[in-house]
Amino acid sequence: SNQSYRWRRVLLKVSGEALAGDQAQNIDPKVTMSIAREVASVTRLGVEFLIFQVAIVVGGGNIFRGSTWAGCSGLDRSSADYIGMLATVMNAIFLQATMESLGIPTRVQTAFRMSEVAEPYIRRRAVRHLEKGRVVIFAAGTGNPFFTTDTAAALRCAEINAEVVLKATNVDGVFDADPRRNPNACLLDSLSYNDVMSRDLSVMDMTAITLCQENNIPVVVFNLNKPGNISKAIKGERVGTLIGA
Ligand code: UDP
Repeated sequence: SNQSYRWRRVLLKVSGEALAGDQAQNIDPKVTMSIAREVASVTRLGVEFLIFQVAIVVGGGNIFRGSTWAGCSGLDRSSADYIGMLATVMNAIFLQATMESLGIPTRVQTAFRMSEVAEPYIRRRAVRHLEKGRVVIFAAGTGNPFFTTDTAAALRCAEINAEVVLKATNVDGVFDADPRRNPNACLLDSLSYNDVMSRDLSVMDMTAITLCQENNIPVVVFNLNKPGNISKAIKGERVGTLIGA
């Protein structure tokens, strides 16, 4: 196909909350399967060569969020955050298994060593996997407490020279007010990094959005529960809210 797409290498951020779907369990296999199907559809678009290179950062909030548990029973913030990072590894391995069941070669790389379970994060190796058409799932966040997987998404995106962070969420995008409280809240088509920061629109934490701004990485916030949205976002079709300069 001669169609030129907007980007070639993307960083898809899947939050833990999104993986939970409407299940009482931590992970909804319908959600992991639909993510895998959509990723499969775009990584197989090119017959002779691969059009899209997809790297994924998974969250862990469906299993454990450090900030929620810090202070309980003597658990300090750093230890709580390490548990949170381990939670992202569980999600990553589940997602990897689902992707590979559809025949998508997938590698998990962890920010701290767990070499019996997954590769350690090695930037050059991650890029090589992508070039060979493998999906790379980055787990364990940044490997540091006090950070988030949104920050990990921005960081890995910059490191591997991906062109965009696609933030898959449970809402349609960024609204000018909280849509759960204000029925007149409007979905915003696009906005600037500064808008996100100054208007206190809870899109990403400040560390993550600042990293995106400093590296000119656009962010697309979109709803992964609408069928077709992930592949649309990867193909650069209009979906959700675009955050940029
Ligand atoms: N976490 C961390 N450092 C990181 C990324 C994540 O300490 O670089 C921990 C933190 O405790 C966080 C948990 O892992 O609460 C799960 O990640 P996050 O809350 O970002 O997941 P999501 O909101 O995407 O489900």
